[in-house]
Parts: sequence; C-alpha cells; structure tokens
Amino acid sequence: MTEILYCSRCRRPSETEVCPTCGQKLHLPILPEDLCYLTSQPSVWGGVLEEILEEEHIPFFRQQESGLSVITGSMTESWSYYVHYANLDRAAALVEELAGTEDLPEEELPEEELPEEEL
Ligand SMILES: [Zn+2]
Repeated sequence: MTEILYCSRCRRPSETEVCPTCGQKLHLPILPEDLCYLTSQPSVWGGVLEEILEEEHIPFFRQQESGLSVITGSMTESWSYYVHYANLDRAAALVEELAGTEDLPEEELPEEELPEEEL
C-alpha cells in the first residue's frame, strides 16, 4: 500500500517522498481535510464548474490567477480550484465529465474581416 503524502506548498498529493512539482521533501501523510489543487478554469467556465460542485455539495476554494495565455499570447483570467482531499476523486471526476460532455470554449479571437479589395 502506498502512503499518500501531502505537499502543503503545491497543495498536491504525492506518492513519493519528494514532491514532483517543487522538490520539497514530504513527510506528512495527506489528511481528508487537506486542500488539494483540482483544476484551473477560465473565469467563464469557473461559473459552470462551481454550479456543479455546489450541486454535489462539494465545498471548494478558489484563487484568482491571471496569466499569459500560451495559445493566444493575451492576458487571461482564470480561477484555480481547490477541494478537500476527501472530495478530490469525486471532484476530479466531475471536472472530467464537464470537459467530456461539453466542448471547451475556444478563446474567442476577434475575427478580422478583411474588406474585399476590388482590383
Ligand atoms: Zn510541492
């Protein structure tokens, strides 16, 4: 049986004694009430996710993040979601369902309509 450890810095469970994300040595076994990183969603999708979590009575915590989108090169606003470890599996399944059943929104790029040039 593998003991799951908890990295309080990254808020992630880890199966190894060294956090794969930050390299910190871990010695605390994860507790059901430890907050774990769930997912990051652009603010538009955050609302959908929150509704689902609320429906399932899963308490969550969110943190706002702004970052540079690698895809569009523009600033995006997104939310990072955290849930208790006890709910992590269930919440992760919901996130997967959400991603599977609905098309993830593509960043809306302003479509520049080029005026038809008459030669
Ligand atoms: Zn870490």
